[in-house]
Amino acid sequence: MTIEGARERRVRTGGVELCVAELGDPAQPTVILVHGYPDSKEVWSEVAVRLADRFHVVLYDVRGHGASTAPKPLRGGFTLEKLTDDFLAVADAVSPGRPVHLVGHDWGSVQSWEFVTVKRTEGRIASFTSMSGPSLDHFGHWISKRLKQPTPRRVGQLLGQGAKSWYVYLLHTPKLPELAWRGPLGKAWPGILRRVERTPDGDYPTPSLPTDAAHGAWLYRDNVRARLRRPRQDAYAHAPVQLVTPLRDAFLSERLYDELELWVPQLTRRTLPARHWIPRTRPDHLAAWISEFVTSVEGGRHQVQASGRHADRFGGQLILVTGAGSGIGRATAFAFAEAGARVVAVDRDGEAAARTAEMSRLIGAPDAWAEAVDVSDEQAMEKLAEKVAVEYGVVDVLVNNAGIGLSGSFFDTTPDDWRKVLDVNLWGVIHGCRLFGRQMAERGQGGHIVNVASAAAYQPSRALPAYSTSKAAVLMLSECLRAELAGQSIGVSAICPGFVNTNITSTARFAGVDAEEERRRQKKTARLYGARNYPPEKVADAVLDAVVRDAAVLPVTPEARVFHAMSRFMPGALRALARVEPPVS
Ligand code: NAD
Repeated sequence: MTIEGARERRVRTGGVELCVAELGDPAQPTVILVHGYPDSKEVWSEVAVRLADRFHVVLYDVRGHGASTAPKPLRGGFTLEKLTDDFLAVADAVSPGRPVHLVGHDWGSVQSWEFVTVKRTEGRIASFTSMSGPSLDHFGHWISKRLKQPTPRRVGQLLGQGAKSWYVYLLHTPKLPELAWRGPLGKAWPGILRRVERTPDGDYPTPSLPTDAAHGAWLYRDNVRARLRRPRQDAYAHAPVQLVTPLRDAFLSERLYDELELWVPQLTRRTLPARHWIPRTRPDHLAAWISEFVTSVEGGRHQVQASGRHADRFGGQLILVTGAGSGIGRATAFAFAEAGARVVAVDRDGEAAARTAEMSRLIGAPDAWAEAVDVSDEQAMEKLAEKVAVEYGVVDVLVNNAGIGLSGSFFDTTPDDWRKVLDVNLWGVIHGCRLFGRQMAERGQGGHIVNVASAAAYQPSRALPAYSTSKAAVLMLSECLRAELAGQSIGVSAICPGFVNTNITSTARFAGVDAEEERRRQKKTARLYGARNYPPEKVADAVLDAVVRDAAVLPVTPEARVFHAMSRFMPGALRALARVEPPVS
């Protein structure tokens, strides 16, 4: 099977012939993608096509897999030394004289760790992106440290990883794996991948799967026991490494990488809320992270620029924030920018959005764009969603933040006032969820939606009937959507801030009063919020935390938390409080 647009050639080395596929311009930096077990190079097809417009992308079938020939005999034909010979032969053929950027998944990563830590490849590897496959040497040291200096925590880690490695023991049994893969397991595997790993339908896995899996069993048998027993002492990486860790990997514990800095002087960590087969389920994220890492290494920077607390989680991801021209929205855009995300700042005030985008680039966003859109305008939002998908890609995190304030008694609030508030605060969120949420769901790679509600969503008040109603609706919409999208790895969070010191106080409308009185009340509210002085940056931090923790409802500010607890345990007291005449009315 060939990957669309790929040029194939064969490279001879050590008694085998490897099938090598190339995409993109050979004058660009070369990125070599190494597949794992039980796979062939096609596992990378979705990542490869996404990288091909910027890089010379090379994939090869590991010996005994896909269209490459198998060593004879099989036993002893898959040692890490021989796999290193193969890699060097491919690198010399596709990129003579220029170091390559290595990317490995699963066993492709295990063997790439060997390539990047042995002397004879020094100068041939510019960088290495590792996912779901540790160095056997590092793993060996990790085990022996836990055996030699056991603490309850370390023993727990050892048992945890031991339980995840059940298949490795099975693969060491003679003949059984071969029989299973050539029989029922081979037939059932595509269905298992779809159900358990949620890999999308398509032309993967390829028909060579039973042979790949049977031959690949020798990767384990030829290497695992020997290396874990006697790990190399000098397995230090001689190139910068980017480690991508999927947090729901059924086969590998994230604890395995706790001490990786000892072996890798220049390490960049990334995490993804995903299972093991990320080249199939998260090609957008991987392509963005590989591009960013390779570009930074080529530019002599070695480390990605991102520095924030969540740099390992959001670097390279696409984030869209509405109402990003001021207050909580702007602070949220900056927090994502600091974590190295690409930011789309949307606001009805185009100039304010442009300033947010400009600042985001200075803070650390590899790219940032401004879009002047009114979130309550259905057609404008549809156009925005189309443009973003075509020009920037599918959004990984959507923050529906744009909102306006309205104060005044129910009878002072006119139908027109109601419409304005609901149009922005509720319909703006509905449009955002509907349009960008659908793109996320169709892409099938997960994502997150954050809706900025308010403590007013659960705290009734005689002074804010329209505003509170709009926010209560946003809270319930978020809960319903969360339930609907849970099966697609798309999280939905409702953020409920209390009093936050932003511009909202000077733009909020007061129903039933003349313009002069409205200005007086706006000033008074601004003074009160100023005295409270809770900064929007703290709400922005909560937004990022909500995504990382996949929180359903997150009250921010102490009063918001107290009111939230009261709404659950003392609703009567909250109702009594709702009757109190507010200080500004
Ligand atoms: P803000 O006024 O500082 O910022 C709101 C931004 O949204 C502004 O840049 C504004 O131009 C933009 N905006 C308003 N209507 C829009 C529309 N129709 N389309 C596009 N952009 C629009 O206010 P903030 O305090 O940062 O508020 C952000 C969100 O937080 C709002 O949803 C608000 O209800 C919510 N919130 C604020 C507080 C608070 O105390 N500040 C408390 C709870 C909830």
